Amino acid sequence: MNKIDSIRPEFVDRLPRILENGVVYISQKYATAAHNCCCGCGTKIVTPLKPGRWRLETQGESISIYPSIGNWSAGCQSHYWIRGNRIDWALGFTPAQIAANRTSDQRVRQQAHADRYRSERGFWGRRWDAIKGLWRALTSWL
Ligand SMILES: [Zn+2]
Repeated sequence: MNKIDSIRPEFVDRLPRILENGVVYISQKYATAAHNCCCGCGTKIVTPLKPGRWRLETQGESISIYPSIGNWSAGCQSHYWIRGNRIDWALGFTPAQIAANRTSDQRVRQQAHADRYRSERGFWGRRWDAIKGLWRALTSWL
């Protein structure tokens, strides 16, 4: 298996079914990127580009994806960063770190959900929630 140390972005409409090693396919339309694991194990890694998941930064021809890519559900346990088309290999995570990372991912996702909910509810929706909360507090107190 050959670890690679650079990757090339390819902007596509639709992600291809078969990915070429060393290429990260980016679909702005579906807000998703995908690439084959950079260790050469052939695992397809799909990174949704949305709040709480991954963020894509482009600078001319070079791209970075934050946060790091961790392939711990597959056997290889690879962990690396894609920064400016370079692969920065990180040390593998211990199972405890993987668990901690999952929880923090979840927290970020929940926060993103809560923010969206609040902004979609709008002003009167929030007032109504407040009144309902007050009412519940009052009735439980009486
Ligand atoms: Zn791998």
